[in-house]
Amino acid sequence: MKGRILKGIAGFYYVETYEEKVYECKAKGIFRKTNLKPLVGDDVEIDIIDEEKKLGNITEIFPRKNQLLRPPVANVDQAVILFAIVKPNPSYNLLDRFLIMMRQQNLPVIICFNKQDIATASEQQELHDAYEKCGYKVLFISVIEEKGLDELKELLKGKTTTLAGPSGVGKSSLLNKLVPNAQMQTGDLSRKIERGKNTTRHSELFFVEELSDNVDRNVDINVDGSADGEGTTCDTYVIDTPGFTSLEMRDVTPDNLMQFYPEFAEYEPECRFGGCSHIAEPDCGVKRAIAEGKIAKVRYDNYKVLYEELKNMRPDY
Ligand code: GDP
Ligand code: ZN
Repeated sequence: MKGRILKGIAGFYYVETYEEKVYECKAKGIFRKTNLKPLVGDDVEIDIIDEEKKLGNITEIFPRKNQLLRPPVANVDQAVILFAIVKPNPSYNLLDRFLIMMRQQNLPVIICFNKQDIATASEQQELHDAYEKCGYKVLFISVIEEKGLDELKELLKGKTTTLAGPSGVGKSSLLNKLVPNAQMQTGDLSRKIERGKNTTRHSELFFVEELSDNVDRNVDINVDGSADGEGTTCDTYVIDTPGFTSLEMRDVTPDNLMQFYPEFAEYEPECRFGGCSHIAEPDCGVKRAIAEGKIAKVRYDNYKVLYEELKNMRPDY
């Protein structure tokens, strides 16, 4: 039986088969030898051990389209990062860190700002300008007033999207709209195990029924991960990922940080010094562009904060 891993807790994997039944599975010993650990989002083959108790074994992991390290999930198409425009105000620092992490993993990001209903037009404009200029899709929504949700759904359709955001921004409210049957998908089994482990949070994959054409979920997946039959690509999933616990920036240095600020590139040729860090050097094209309002000040201010942070972490600089 083929299925997809919805979540993994303490060595148990919850696999939803294409018949929409969830089995509590263990990974058989074979994976320990190959060092291949099942991930949320994996397409797998399972052997059913007990149909009544819904128990099974994962016997095979199908080839992954991709694999993220943070969050550790497989077969993801894009990320949605959710912030509120106000209450709470967005942390540019967290947002930029997240964008850097995703860019390192080559994952497209949609930046989504919630609580449009209580924000002013100028608050919205500032965010829009700062982030659309650097090439991101920026969406404004109000989950409470159900504004912008259709546009968001359109972007989610047929894809697997990781959804992340700090607490208080409306992530649970949004998930409730997208996956009204979340409790049912999770199943009783997993809640039994999760009890008493409330401090640990896990990534969890949800099937978005409303945005899926699940007529044809029962198709064969080929060895290369592709699927036969029409309709298979119409399945939509969101992965609820835990809040930002560690957004430490690996492989980012003071010297390469500017790569993650693509909107600087256009002005770099105007810097007097080659290799200008755009911090303290005189006659800097990037700083000039900021003074002229061509680059968003919030982005540059945050660049400076991260630059100092990275420099302090590395005494060799
Ligand atoms: P989470 O911590 O990100 O999961 O956020 P919740 O979904 O629990 O929402 C946090 C608070 O924001 C709650 O009081 C929600 O009612 C509120 N909230 C969520 N969406 C909106 C929205 O679109 N507009 C406003 N004004 N408040 C919202
Ligand atoms: Zn410069």
